[in-house]
Amino acid sequence: MLEEQFKEIDRIRFAVGTKILAAMQKNKLEYSHFAGSSGYGYDDSGREIIEKIYADVFGAEDALVRPQLMSGTHALTVSFFGNLRPGDTLLSVVGKPYDTLLSVIGIREASGSLAEFGVNYHQVDLLPTNEIDFAGITNAITSSTKMVTIQRSKGYSTRPTLSVAQIAKIISTVKAVRADIICLVDNCYGEFVEEIEPSEVGADLVVGSLIKNPGGGLCESGGYIVGKRKYVEAAAMRLTAPGLGKEVGATLGTNKNVLQGLFLAPEVVANALKGAVYAAYKFEQLGFNAIPKWNEKRSDIVQAIEMNTAENVIAFCEGIQKAAPVDSFVKPIPWEMPGYDVPVVMAAGAFVQGSSIELSADAPIKPPFTVFFQGGLTQYHAQIGIDTALQIMKDKGLIA
Ligand SMILES: *Cc1c(COP(=O)(O)O)cnc(C)c1O
Repeated sequence: MLEEQFKEIDRIRFAVGTKILAAMQKNKLEYSHFAGSSGYGYDDSGREIIEKIYADVFGAEDALVRPQLMSGTHALTVSFFGNLRPGDTLLSVVGKPYDTLLSVIGIREASGSLAEFGVNYHQVDLLPTNEIDFAGITNAITSSTKMVTIQRSKGYSTRPTLSVAQIAKIISTVKAVRADIICLVDNCYGEFVEEIEPSEVGADLVVGSLIKNPGGGLCESGGYIVGKRKYVEAAAMRLTAPGLGKEVGATLGTNKNVLQGLFLAPEVVANALKGAVYAAYKFEQLGFNAIPKWNEKRSDIVQAIEMNTAENVIAFCEGIQKAAPVDSFVKPIPWEMPGYDVPVVMAAGAFVQGSSIELSADAPIKPPFTVFFQGGLTQYHAQIGIDTALQIMKDKGLIA
């Protein structure tokens, strides 16, 4: 049943893997590049090669790939602050952005937000059918619109994930109004799920986290920003200091893991996707609603399942935790997390703290009790996680 889906995942894995290998060969990656640097990090040839390889893999002019980018949120923050000035407007075109960005933008009040620096924010929601409001986007653009932000992954909402083809259509809609509007894509969870990336269809900046897909499970910290040279450079001036930009930044021994992680990433992403397909299939068979469906085309690694009751959600997360290589003996319980209006339950037993390319699950305890599940460095571990979750639900008498 699942073979057809797995075959398509393997086809993309091969295409992306081939592209990454070619970029490493073209840029003459060699053993000495793994040495890295300390102090200011001047002339770190490994760092420079990493950024050339990333630019090539993403079909971009330039890249900033650094352990000093502390998370996806930080990489996005640096991209916004580096490129937006007081009086500019940032426009989100597929509804409310990812939760952590609310404070960055100032939608939720926070010290140091874009709003505090005089950057305006405007939002175009999806249509009630969850479709993209192209006419609304065209109408929302004004003379102050400097940047459009497009979130590829559904993140922790249940809208459909955007395909690269849909992102291309949004970008051409924006560029038809004014070609100099910077189109930024939040690519978190989307990397290498499709053969091409948003930077290959006109995105000016594409941003993500190295403890998600492109780190291949090996990166211990970091983020990436790829795109048009002037916008990447503007982000670098904000990350380091005006005048310094990309020239500084010690890599402190991280180069090998960034490169080997990228080399493994197509395999790891394929494994995570097979786990997601397997989970969707198993839970749909039991009558649960899976988003996306097991046989739908995917553009990120996140699998949402509506579990209908709090007991189901908690049992599911217990199973994922029990199947983890790290902290398998811990029992996840819902807690009042800062910034959330309801308790949240999480399962993670990862080698890298918070890494969500490793098998993990999160759920806010509110109807329809949706659990968001992602990752799995190996296909068999993702399947063991799902099977363990199903077994615990069975043991508790929640499913037959
Ligand atoms: C993970 C994620 C981010 C950034 O999250 P961090 O935890 O800061 O790395 C931003 N947007 C989306 C859609 C994400 O999935």
